[in-house]
Amino acid sequence: MQLMEKSMEQGLATSTKSVAVKMLPTFVDSVPNGTELFDHIADCMAKFMEENNLKDAPKLPLGFTFSFPCEQDGLTKGKLVTWTKGFKASGVEGADVVTLLRDACHRRKDIDIDVVALLNDTVGTLMACAFQENSCQIGVIVGTGTNACYMERLERIPKLAGYVDEHGVTPEEMIINTEWGAFGDDGALDFLRTKWDDAVDRESINPGQHLYEKMISGMYMGECARVVLEDLAKQGLLFGGHSDAISVPHCFPTKFVSEIDSDLLEDDDRTFQKTYQILEDIGVEMITANDCANVAYVCSLISTRAAHLTAAGIAMLLNRINKKHVTVGVDGSVYRFHPTYPTLLDAKIAELIVGDIEYKLMLSEDGSGRGAALVAAVATRLKEEKLA
Ligand code: BGC
Ligand code: MG
Repeated sequence: MQLMEKSMEQGLATSTKSVAVKMLPTFVDSVPNGTELFDHIADCMAKFMEENNLKDAPKLPLGFTFSFPCEQDGLTKGKLVTWTKGFKASGVEGADVVTLLRDACHRRKDIDIDVVALLNDTVGTLMACAFQENSCQIGVIVGTGTNACYMERLERIPKLAGYVDEHGVTPEEMIINTEWGAFGDDGALDFLRTKWDDAVDRESINPGQHLYEKMISGMYMGECARVVLEDLAKQGLLFGGHSDAISVPHCFPTKFVSEIDSDLLEDDDRTFQKTYQILEDIGVEMITANDCANVAYVCSLISTRAAHLTAAGIAMLLNRINKKHVTVGVDGSVYRFHPTYPTLLDAKIAELIVGDIEYKLMLSEDGSGRGAALVAAVATRLKEEKLA
């Protein structure tokens, strides 16, 4: 070690050829620190602008949807609180994501983008929905992750006591991004979390965080089902006790739960063809008709539980808002593509609301993107009015 270090120090000291260990400078002077994520976004925007002949547009206003918890203190400022949904890039938590995106745009020099609004995807969903239905008061995402935002009266937000906006006005209401995915992180859900939920959490990239999300969303539903099936196989209750194939983490994505649930829905003769095919593709060695029925049953329990847990959240917000007509804008892959989830969700909400509240769930397709565009348009108009 000592000799090697000595040779290296000689190499670092002088550039003459006389040294044995050359220690050549590479001029690469930083390692990726995670903020390059943002370079990728700038890259995508440049491509988009190219394709749509917008490259020369000066100061194109951008509404930036960022689907992670951000502590905002204005429409164009927000610090990432924590990554979720399996993301992990260093140097971003605690940083202002708008600054990171602006810097990435400046680095490119070929695009001129003005970030005029930062929005959580639930807020975009609410806005896009409210554009069509002015009774929309709640925005929900059930996709890779889950979250909701809703219109809250300012008098019920003690932490904003005394708040005035930039015009010196105290608004009556404000959209609150609940970040309900983290419900349960303080133990509130321990009474109904199972050993299988613990297993999913333990193997995740953020153990102990976003426990409600881990019982509901697309990132985890398949894994929830898989750990149950693994357990059953190990107990000899499935697949003739062969548990190797089903024990591979993440071999059972949420789309399998959707496909198997649609077997239950569409397949009158209970032949479980899709279920059989999926299990065979994963490499399960012994599959009986009974196994297929049991696997389908487990999947239906997982997705029903997910729908009911989400329903509890939405119904609570509806009861809290307590208005006669409320529309709930919903988006996300689970809501869009799972065959029974929307119906299960709706039926449970109907059971849980009190009084004479009428509500409607409305699919807000790509609402998060469209809503961001709407907010950007409004912000730009206000800006121009101010200048004029
Ligand atoms: C994030 C939320 C986001 C939700 C849906 C969650 O993991 O914390 O900010 O709204 O996923 O995308
Ligand atoms: Mg999304």
